Amino acid sequence: MSSLKIDVRELEKKPLFLKGFSSFSDSDLNQSEVKVIGKLSISLTVEKKPEVIQVIGSFDAKVQLICARCLELFSYPLTVKINQDYRSSAHQPSVGATTLKTEDTSIAFFSGDFIEVNDIICEQILLSVPMKPLCQEHCQGLCSQCGQNKNHSNCTCEIIIMDPRLTPLLKLKN
Ligand SMILES: [Zn+2]
Ligand SMILES: [Zn+2]
Repeated sequence: MSSLKIDVRELEKKPLFLKGFSSFSDSDLNQSEVKVIGKLSISLTVEKKPEVIQVIGSFDAKVQLICARCLELFSYPLTVKINQDYRSSAHQPSVGATTLKTEDTSIAFFSGDFIEVNDIICEQILLSVPMKPLCQEHCQGLCSQCGQNKNHSNCTCEIIIMDPRLTPLLKLKN
């Protein structure tokens, strides 16, 4: 599977099954904090219905994120389900890549004879990524005093900051 363009004319005859690995350009995501690592594993069924063209399936991706606490890069696996209806913009006066949200389904529009599957994949990746990604559930973050990553080693400045009453004890130990 090389291209993620669906030729709508082919759907007149039979549904289309897209299955395989696809490389993905990060520039498509248009967001520097999220990078796709490796290839996407895609499994989609595209079918022409009387009113719309239905794209159903899922994809797996691995993205690289920046931890909101310790600022380190980490990889984050995603499994995303897709259930998207497409309508030709020829039937819609307001042309564009705009997604029209109705009550429970969203309809995307395409122009010409092709649907760009990459567009919906981009959108879904960005929706699936957490707002404040953490490299691990209990990430310790960075020390606000010395900037050290506390996941790797503990610094002594923190104890004093956290509870000044401990200071005499620390002096005793030394
Ligand atoms: Zn972290
Ligand atoms: Zn510190």
